[in-house]
Amino acid sequence: MDRVHRNPGLSPGRSRIQVLAVAVVAAMLTSACAAASAAPAGVRAAGSRSDSRPLAGKIVGIDPGHNGLNYTDPAFLSKQIWNGREWEDCDTTGTQTAGGYTEARFTFNVATYLAADLRKDGARVVLTRPSNRGIGPCVDRRARILDRAHANISIDIHADYGPASGRGFTVLEPVADGPNDKVVGPSIRFGHYVHTAFLRRTRMTVSDYYGHNGYILRNDLAGLNLTTMPKVLIESGNMNNATDARLLTQARVQRSIARALAAAIIRFLTGHWPS
Ligand SMILES: [Zn+2]
Repeated sequence: MDRVHRNPGLSPGRSRIQVLAVAVVAAMLTSACAAASAAPAGVRAAGSRSDSRPLAGKIVGIDPGHNGLNYTDPAFLSKQIWNGREWEDCDTTGTQTAGGYTEARFTFNVATYLAADLRKDGARVVLTRPSNRGIGPCVDRRARILDRAHANISIDIHADYGPASGRGFTVLEPVADGPNDKVVGPSIRFGHYVHTAFLRRTRMTVSDYYGHNGYILRNDLAGLNLTTMPKVLIESGNMNNATDARLLTQARVQRSIARALAAAIIRFLTGHWPS
């Protein structure tokens, strides 16, 4: 764009044809510039060598809750880990819908869609587990994987098991406990973006049975206690509610949840909502 603004001014004594030619070239450059500015986020301007994707150079951590084979190893799950405040189980099996669709499958699907969206936007993505066919890792190790990767921001993805009559999503936010002291404020800001993006971009509603207006502070989760980067945990909906279960198990709803999370991440890291 600077090229256009640095065009030399017309010098006196040029012929009308020269003046006209310069004016036409200037107009062409200006319209090319306008077209490039209007290009959607993520599209590179023709001839540009710099990476203009919104998340270029950023590292994003994704923790898809639980794992597909956790249920096969109760001894592993009951191993005690320090969550930053107290001892707790390594992990759980996660929940499932009445139809048997597991939370682990849901969280991994959303994580896979989200990872693809974020990579397209230029981010390097770090996942805490590579598939839905394994066991673990424990929740403290998941936090450490993301801390050691120096992620700029991370999201823990879950779905809840609440009363059958209850619906909706809740953003779980950290409470200062030492390791996370510096990131509690930014995490709460990020949580607000996640909340906004869920309402705008998914069919999920604010929880009517858990937290307050779709938010709750939690001081008992390794993922939030041990984090050294801004992070929240999203309970995407209630798998024990028939309506939420029908939504959460649809690929298009899972994709919309991933897109909402990507939008919140872009908002946090760039200061702007994506179009
Ligand atoms: Zn869970």
